[in-house]
Amino acid sequence: MNTASRPSLPHYRLRRRTAGFTALGATLTMLFAVAALGQGAPQAARAGAQPQVLAGSYEQTPFTLTRPYVGVLWRDSRPVGKPNRGALIRGTKLPPQGATFFSWDPVRKRSPSPQSRRYATDRLIRVVLRVADEYARANPGAPRLAIGDLSKPGGGRFAGAFHASHQNGLDADIYYPRLDRRERSPWNVTDIDLKLAQDLVDRFVRAGATYVFVGPRTPLKGPRGVVMALPRHDNHMHVRLPPG
Ligand SMILES: [Zn+2]
Repeated sequence: MNTASRPSLPHYRLRRRTAGFTALGATLTMLFAVAALGQGAPQAARAGAQPQVLAGSYEQTPFTLTRPYVGVLWRDSRPVGKPNRGALIRGTKLPPQGATFFSWDPVRKRSPSPQSRRYATDRLIRVVLRVADEYARANPGAPRLAIGDLSKPGGGRFAGAFHASHQNGLDADIYYPRLDRRERSPWNVTDIDLKLAQDLVDRFVRAGATYVFVGPRTPLKGPRGVVMALPRHDNHMHVRLPPG
């Protein structure tokens, strides 16, 4: 995405709590959104972005529900470049599943997804786990949060034409919860629990997402310029965090 051409957006600041965990605290047209996601991504600048031997620290997550399940090696991750042409330094890996979430492989259509698709900035991992935790508390009986592709370990372009973005650890695909509560991606809009899906959209907006792309065939809504309809998002939403 070319920030130079980007209209100014509300600036979100993340509140930082003690204990080292980050809590969260202009109209764009669809054409622009399509262009943003669909941009070609030549060779990403990868200097210094190779996956490193882990040099982070294990830390209990502050989330009650996930604590017994999640062992995350938190690293001081750094996004490089743009979501459509970028890399990820010291990516933090999402565990395959936890009490409040599971990973979903969109290629093999099964859970868990391979670890090579589960890297992001530590900030995005914290946001996703926090939303999963709060969503579970607010919606007893809801299926766990279905987390799809994040980024590759060093970022860069996914093989094939699967994603144009997801290159620098700031993008997450979240599958809409199903009415039948099955823990897999929905096939059709009629499979989606739209009330729960809207709740999730609202939570990611409140968590500071710059964009939440949703399916044109869904009735999901949100602030103008942030929640936008985008083709091929009728079974999942795409959440993007700001770079800093
Ligand atoms: Zn996506």
